[in-house]
Amino acid sequence: MADIGTLFVISAPSGAGKTTLIKKVLNRFETLSYSVSHTTREPRQNELNGRDYFFISIEEFEQKISLNHWFEWAKVHDNYYGTSKEFIKNSLEKGQSLVLDIDVQGAKQVMALDLDLVSIFILPPSFKTLSQRLENRGTDSKEVIAKRLENAKSEIAQKDLYQYKVVNDDLDKAAKELYSIFKKEMA
Ligand code: ADP
Ligand code: 5GP
Repeated sequence: MADIGTLFVISAPSGAGKTTLIKKVLNRFETLSYSVSHTTREPRQNELNGRDYFFISIEEFEQKISLNHWFEWAKVHDNYYGTSKEFIKNSLEKGQSLVLDIDVQGAKQVMALDLDLVSIFILPPSFKTLSQRLENRGTDSKEVIAKRLENAKSEIAQKDLYQYKVVNDDLDKAAKELYSIFKKEMA
């Protein structure tokens, strides 16, 4: 039987660069994959169903809550986000390691389970940079950005729940740090 895979839980305030960093590092590991979440939010222009998220309706999401389908789920910035329990179980049992890109509420649910996991929090160098990155990304309205910045404060306040913290100032440097964590923890 294959060894069980490693579960990486990564959180960050929106705009800190988590998606960019994960994309940069993930394909350097054969046995590490991205856990594609389900969400009820609208797809962004460059997003693909099944690659970035599974975009589903509120009705379907809520039905899956009642069927106990989710490994973890949360309402983030007014939309539902969740991870399929079956997908996690099947992948880990096959020896596949996984990166879960989830918010702090979801990470706390996973940390409360009796599971081995590696938790990482990505920080922006400053609040001002975070705000600039969200604006430069150009994917969200002013109202959505304001909500994401407001949530960022309470998320950053909980960073010490995580084993590792990576500051994403210089992208290459942060990617190297993330790479070292993956490498060490999967050894
Ligand atoms: P998140 O997934 O955490 O919401 P993204 O990965 O979408 O964040 O990054 C937010 C924006 O910041 C994107 O436009 C991205 O290109 C940019 N970005 C990410 N990391 C850096 C960095 N180290 N320096 C400058 N810009 C960055
Ligand atoms: P975005 O809308 O910018 O893609 O993501 C918003 C937030 O939702 C991010 O903090 C991201 O980590 C979180 N998120 C994405 N997928 C999931 C998930 O499956 N569960 C939880 N709890 N949060 C998620």
